[in-house]
Amino acid sequence: MRVVTTVAEMKRLRSQLPGSIGLVPTMGYLHEGHLELVRQARLENLTVVASIFVNPTQFGRGEDLATYPRDPERDLELLEDEKVAVVFMPSDQEMYPEGFSSWVEVEKVTDRLEGAYRPGHFRGVATVVTKLFNIVQPHRAYFGQKDAQQLAVIRRMVSDLNMNLDIVAVPTVREPDGLAMSSRNTYLNPEERKAAVVLWKALCLAQELWDKGEKSAERLRQEMTSLIESEPLAKIDYVSVADPDSLEELGDIDRFALVSLAVRIGKTRLIDNITLGT
Ligand code: AMP
Repeated sequence: MRVVTTVAEMKRLRSQLPGSIGLVPTMGYLHEGHLELVRQARLENLTVVASIFVNPTQFGRGEDLATYPRDPERDLELLEDEKVAVVFMPSDQEMYPEGFSSWVEVEKVTDRLEGAYRPGHFRGVATVVTKLFNIVQPHRAYFGQKDAQQLAVIRRMVSDLNMNLDIVAVPTVREPDGLAMSSRNTYLNPEERKAAVVLWKALCLAQELWDKGEKSAERLRQEMTSLIESEPLAKIDYVSVADPDSLEELGDIDRFALVSLAVRIGKTRLIDNITLGT
């Protein structure tokens, strides 16, 4: 496995990599969710490139950039075990050198949900993902369903800007009690960790109501909200039942709905989602 830290070296190496290339972008502190993306990429490509970069431009003021968990040595061991060919691990300076001033803005689909609560977040995501696509030039790139809006934004961007690759979505990997795996789960103390299962309970409740024939998005939002409010450590940012592509809130659910939520447990902000109708 090659570990590459500069854009120039990554580009040089790129021309020597055999067959189709699958890219797995990450911010490191890897868990089974990330590794599932790598495994899917391995199934579909001869060469897997993983990137580890805690992208400063997608963090807002007052967010957790400074404390974001990092363990590059462990990450490299895990990626080696998964037979990743190349790990691209650039510095901030390498990705955003002096004078950097170009940005990728995806409109509309970024207005709501995470976009509304984290201004500038998706501008940072779209920009860094575009840079990674240009540097690595993958045939396919792998993203988790866990970050459903991120996936919608990247699909929109790839389509709008005629980017030459396929985007592959990978289902969310969960802990045994249903909590979606996330590098940020490490912030939770034992009491908060127990409380955090309320996100999954709320999503299961939405699924159950839908399975019983409930079509009103508002009813789902209300039922999920009161369940989450019964957990004293949980504070809701949003509970959404929206169109999976446009992310516009639904009245009645016609065929599909993206049920998503962002909840703060203590100081830790968690997100999760499921899709109804699939
Ligand atoms: P991150 O390191 O949090 O930026 O995540 C890197 C990639 O892994 C993103 O495409 C995420 O959506 C994906 N990912 C994170 N957590 C999970 C999970 N629990 N299951 C599946 N994919 C995930």
